[in-house]
Amino acid sequence: MNRLVVMKFGGTSVEDAAAILRTARIVAGRVGKGLQPVVVVSAMAKVTDLLISAATTAARGDRGSALAITERLRIRHHDTATQLAAGPQLHDDPLAAARPDSGLAATHAWMDAELDGLEEVLRGLTVVGELTPRISDMIVSYGERLSSRMITEAFARCGLKAVHVDARKCIVTDAQYGKAIPQDAAIEQRLKQHIVPHLVEGRVPVMGGFIGSTEQGVTTTLGRGGSDFTAALVGAGIDAGAIEIWTDVDGIMTADPRVCPEALRVKTISFEEAAELAYFGAKVLHPATILPAVRKNIPVFVLNSKNVENSGTRITALAPHCRSPFKSIAVKKRLTIMDVVASRMLMSHGYLKAIFDVFDKHKCPVDMVSTSEVSVSISLDSNEKLPAIAADLSQLADVKYEGRKALVCMVGENIRGQNGIAARVFQSVRHVNLRMISQGASEINMSFMVEEDDADEAVRSLHAEFFGDPDPAIFDVEALPQPVKIS
Ligand code: ADP
Ligand code: ASP
Ligand code: MG
Repeated sequence: MNRLVVMKFGGTSVEDAAAILRTARIVAGRVGKGLQPVVVVSAMAKVTDLLISAATTAARGDRGSALAITERLRIRHHDTATQLAAGPQLHDDPLAAARPDSGLAATHAWMDAELDGLEEVLRGLTVVGELTPRISDMIVSYGERLSSRMITEAFARCGLKAVHVDARKCIVTDAQYGKAIPQDAAIEQRLKQHIVPHLVEGRVPVMGGFIGSTEQGVTTTLGRGGSDFTAALVGAGIDAGAIEIWTDVDGIMTADPRVCPEALRVKTISFEEAAELAYFGAKVLHPATILPAVRKNIPVFVLNSKNVENSGTRITALAPHCRSPFKSIAVKKRLTIMDVVASRMLMSHGYLKAIFDVFDKHKCPVDMVSTSEVSVSISLDSNEKLPAIAADLSQLADVKYEGRKALVCMVGENIRGQNGIAARVFQSVRHVNLRMISQGASEINMSFMVEEDDADEAVRSLHAEFFGDPDPAIFDVEALPQPVKIS
């Protein structure tokens, strides 16, 4: 049996001392069962957002406000470390509270050294005034650098044989700062060098997610939410038996529970469906997480660190049969629709190529496309490149674009070959103005664009229509309020 398991804990699972202790218990539970974990952790909740705002504030020249943010981070990390050192341990140790913790002074010292380094970068930035993607990655990397080391020490205090590994030594990427592309072969080789020897010695390696570095050692990041991706890269690189994504919900749900409180846990889902959901906005998984797992056929589990008894969602190669057409509904917001209309291109070939060459030139990914003979509508992430893209496209055609749009995407293997699904979809959202309707070539998704303000309502209406009678083989119907028995 393959005993290797990669366990990734997101920001809320390490948000404070109590959460970190819960995480330690979960890891110890796996060790107790004879498994060999590699732990991947995110920055503490909200820390990445704060680091981004420190960076943009410094680039505006506002040194005082940028340093006020690092001060908040300093206090939060020191306080958490102090609580972890003083707080209850995993194995009851009646003398622990009375014993002075010599390690704690060392912890405060390395934290100060790291945060001093961060402040130095921010001070430099206030002078230079230009925030390059490379500097931005350097700044945001501090979240995972601090959390991973602090959590390793907490694990060790709890009796785990934990050892810190700097993720930047293992996750080799190209130099596309902000969304760097991992280099699989190099990662595999680095993991053999920096992780496997610890596993052989029975230690629990702990590393930060999200961060990596180029071959030359320059710090990079994998994009927001990228710690899931790190876990999958490590899992594939060491041929783990399972990848566990521990988060703050019971698993992949039929919709974002923040939007739709009636959402149900999906007990099992295919790689293909999960990838589609992640790509189209289900924040619970980073869109790239599934690829390395598919490559090595490693099952992925999404689990709740605040509800450990729950069995979560299991993601595997084949989707079991499901009575309902859809497994889940995802929403991707902050999108723009760009309409490109060129009547003079009527009947001429090469039109679409010319258009997409422009997106290629600007390295701008496209979410959805719908076309007629002379017009093309394209949905894109709203970003600062749009005016330049529109300017280039206007050489070919009339261009207009509108922001504040959202893509609603329903995913399920069983859309294939079922009649009448589209009619039910459109009937249930008849009160909403739909744009750009599409059923992807994979035939496992059906999507449309709406105004951003209408998206949540559309999800709730679709959910009521399609998850009123959930298949108990796939969805956690036990979580539904049970009918009251009258005796
Ligand atoms: P973490 O910090 O653990 O990585 P994230 O905030 O990135 O957690 O992802 C978890 C969040 O994803 C949930 O709190 C939930 O609001 C959101 N989410 C969106 N869509 C879904 C879905 N289909 N199922 C479960 N959670 C979802
Ligand atoms: N800390 C990073 C973020 O907030 C990565 C992650 O949490 O997955 O985006
Ligand atoms: Mg996440």
